[in-house]
Amino acid sequence: MDHASTTPMAPEVIEAMAAAFVEIFGNASSLHQPGLSARAALEEARERVAGLIGAEAGEVYFTSGGTESDNLAIRGAALANRDRGRHIITTTIEHPAVLEPCKALEKEGFEVTYLPVTREGLVEVEALEAAIREDTILISIMHANNEIGTIQPIAEAGEIARSRGIVFHTDAVQTVGKIPAKVDDLGVDLLSISSHKLHGPKGVGALYIRKKTPIEPIIFGGGHERGMRSGTENVPGIIGLAAASELAGRNLEEEMVRISGMRDRLADYVLERVEDTWVNGSRTKRLPNNLNLGFSFIEGEALLLRLDAKGIAVSTGSACSSKKTVASHVLTAIGLRPQEAHGSLRVTLGRENTDEEVDRVGEAIVEVAESLRAMSPFRRS
Ligand SMILES: *Cc1c(COP(=O)(O)O)cnc(C)c1O
Repeated sequence: MDHASTTPMAPEVIEAMAAAFVEIFGNASSLHQPGLSARAALEEARERVAGLIGAEAGEVYFTSGGTESDNLAIRGAALANRDRGRHIITTTIEHPAVLEPCKALEKEGFEVTYLPVTREGLVEVEALEAAIREDTILISIMHANNEIGTIQPIAEAGEIARSRGIVFHTDAVQTVGKIPAKVDDLGVDLLSISSHKLHGPKGVGALYIRKKTPIEPIIFGGGHERGMRSGTENVPGIIGLAAASELAGRNLEEEMVRISGMRDRLADYVLERVEDTWVNGSRTKRLPNNLNLGFSFIEGEALLLRLDAKGIAVSTGSACSSKKTVASHVLTAIGLRPQEAHGSLRVTLGRENTDEEVDRVGEAIVEVAESLRAMSPFRRS
């Protein structure tokens, strides 16, 4: 129930990787047969990943994951365009893999505008337009948020960016393989992918770079990935990402319907039975697998631990902040007060979840919430 943090590898992915570890051990830069077969497998993988996002194979660059893809997009585009301007626009609800590179650039003379979001977690395109300046060189808006699942108006934002000649990046780590995410429909120049969020292995990802987009590498060495990302390619991992991409693309629409159906049933079940409970984020512009519930008078962390004891893995806010006690920056950005933000629970469904499991989770959440409420010193009586 925590697929936004990571997903189990699909059996087909494990099979493809196991074969690759044994048979395709060559260095893809070598000129002998083992090297050539690794190169061929790498290029075939590139085509498959490109297929999932409607790109050309030559526009896909493999990285070590979503974090590196975001860093390369932000830093690489900022440095390549620094002579045209030093202003970047992003949002307050981005993943740290986007926010932190932006903060680092601020220390190096760039200026960053962090767009606010509505109560539902949506960026307003009017606010984006108003924030654009003569010296704006890069816009980065995530496709969907990892905590509250809000899907942003990327196509509209992309049109604005294009009309002003500004490089446009989207962190699509939560959407690729879950909802349609074609680069031309979205109108993006740069798009980040992480393999382990779509039933592939950890430590692999990709950055889509539209042809002719000005961008510089941030890692230097032997010139792999056409100079954009040096370092011997993780061929088995990349083959795993390709297998995962193919699987995800195969029945995307059916899975969207099935998973959002389970999600809505779970939401209704809990909302009908537990008082002072609400859904964080938008109920319509939302990832099919994401449910973020708010509970008054309950600590989300207590809910998480009680559910874990029942063998149910959920999250509060984001996995990255589960060790901190600060309120989630996303929940704060949509206007929740700290105590409301602390009473939140994220359930993110996935491919292997069943109706029966979701029923059990609903019952467990209701039981645990009622038990915690009975103990809560804050509860009105
Ligand atoms: C998980 C995640 C990342 C980071 O991806 P890694 O492959 O784990 O480095 C970036 N952005 C979003 C929205 C994510 O959910």
